[in-house]
Amino acid sequence: MNILPGSKLVVASHNAGKVREFADLLRPFGLDVVSAAELGLPEPDETGTTFVENSLIKSRSSAQASGLVALADDSGLAVEALDGEPGIFSARWAGRDKDFNLAMEKVEAALQAHGATEAKDRRAAFICVLSLAWPDGQTQVFEGKVEGTLVWPPRGAHGFGYDPVFQADGHNITFGEMDPQEKHAISHRADAFNKMLKHFTTGNDDGGRQ
Ligand code: IMP
Repeated sequence: MNILPGSKLVVASHNAGKVREFADLLRPFGLDVVSAAELGLPEPDETGTTFVENSLIKSRSSAQASGLVALADDSGLAVEALDGEPGIFSARWAGRDKDFNLAMEKVEAALQAHGATEAKDRRAAFICVLSLAWPDGQTQVFEGKVEGTLVWPPRGAHGFGYDPVFQADGHNITFGEMDPQEKHAISHRADAFNKMLKHFTTGNDDGGRQ
């Protein structure tokens, strides 16, 4: 299964910022990118229990509704001491007001409740699962990850979400303090995209066929 230069691909997202980021990252593929919102496609409920399931719910829904190849992602922060939470609920921990200061405080309170004061007890990873779905039902997934430590208090005004508390391994500044280009070069999303790019340019099967 392949995606060919010049073919049309739906980005299964209604988030304009995410669609723009996808369009930039997809430029090397030479694809004609259109968003689910532009096509008026429905937004399915994310009822899965894993990043992979939720990513596939979104890509399959858009592929079936549009008859085109669809690309979706699902991402979040997985904290080791919290058994992977907030995980697929990373956005939900910010509440209805999408208040990520509150979400970061909740994570910190949970870590404190576990007595996690030393860096070794504060391990976390950002995860991004990209999935491609074809209208005939075939799918492929590519998982990206960046590992690091959670710091407190939050630092930096760049990025979004949990960026101000996440310090990637080998760095002494948070994603919130990092130049966006530098973050984009090492992020979980870049890792997943690079795996997809490698798969389609070399034929190496880094993605799992479903
Ligand atoms: P999604 O849009 O359903 O995949 O939700 C992802 C959520 O995970 C976001 O709302 C953020 O809370 C968090 N997240 C994912 N990627 C990042 C990142 O690069 N930086 C900070 N937070 C992130």
